[in-house]
Amino acid sequence: MAADLLVDTRCRTLSTAVRQRIAYTGERYKGAHQEVQAHPGKPLIPAADTWEQALLETEFLHRGGELGSASQHPMGIVRIRPYPDRLTVVLDNEPYVIRYWVDRLLPVDSGPADEIRGICGLRYSRTGHHVRLYRQDTATAIDLTGFNPHWWDRAVDAAVVDARAQDATPCFTGATAPWTTAERDLHTALADTICDPHLGSRLLRRIRLTAFEGPYGGTDLWSHPAGRQRYDWILETLRGHDHSKLLALLTDPQTGVGLQLRRRSCYCEQAGMEDEGCTAVLESPDGVQRLLVRDLRWTVDEADLQCRTKYVTDRNRHAFSPWTEREDTRAVR
Ligand SMILES: [Zn+2]
Repeated sequence: MAADLLVDTRCRTLSTAVRQRIAYTGERYKGAHQEVQAHPGKPLIPAADTWEQALLETEFLHRGGELGSASQHPMGIVRIRPYPDRLTVVLDNEPYVIRYWVDRLLPVDSGPADEIRGICGLRYSRTGHHVRLYRQDTATAIDLTGFNPHWWDRAVDAAVVDARAQDATPCFTGATAPWTTAERDLHTALADTICDPHLGSRLLRRIRLTAFEGPYGGTDLWSHPAGRQRYDWILETLRGHDHSKLLALLTDPQTGVGLQLRRRSCYCEQAGMEDEGCTAVLESPDGVQRLLVRDLRWTVDEADLQCRTKYVTDRNRHAFSPWTEREDTRAVR
């Protein structure tokens, strides 16, 4: 009897842990259950175990954090599967999402007057249904999946045509392509200014916290320098989250991002304040890392939805065409 009770308690505890992990990662129950069960006593959301892996994930988030309301999913990310040494990112199965990430991630040298666009040293290999991203000469990996892998090839081909049309040089052609001098110089220069990359990595590994049930959630996430050794991150959504729950999950001492709530202005439950946005400031205990959470609480009406649906349709139609050959498809925000 006592043994049955113990097993029952363990099952319920495991189930609770799995559901808590899913709130952060958006994984399917079976997959999350396997991971939690296989690693008893380990953190529910494993952290990146090296500085290089955390840095790659932070740059990934930094480059791609502005898809906003153009996607139903935060940054087009449907699910995350975190491992200590790598990260699996399941992307939305939409051509324009794949093109967005190709354009944002893969490094292109625009010449001496401009910086490298994309992530310095980033290369990729495609195996089956996965695209593996890694920084050349480092033990890093972000696996992209969930979409037709041939779309990746077509998006890359279009991006190469675009780069050359602008007299720019793609640095990523070939899985073993070495770092270019320009990539190495910029990466070295950035290394002096980048502070601890683990907050960005933790945010990416929990990005599904910002998922929205409606057709367009509008998660944006970006960062900017805020003095030496400090970056402020800003997480912005359009509408619809339970702010108390969101902040509790972000600041959970076991599974959160390692920050504490400092200030909060929340108008969700105040009559007459329906148009007011909510904000919260989170900080690390030493005050070095800061995250501003902002929900604009916009009302999305039928006209907005139709406009965004048209935008997505247009973007999908031209996703694999070089920009130089497209008709104008202006961004809708
Ligand atoms: Zn609120």
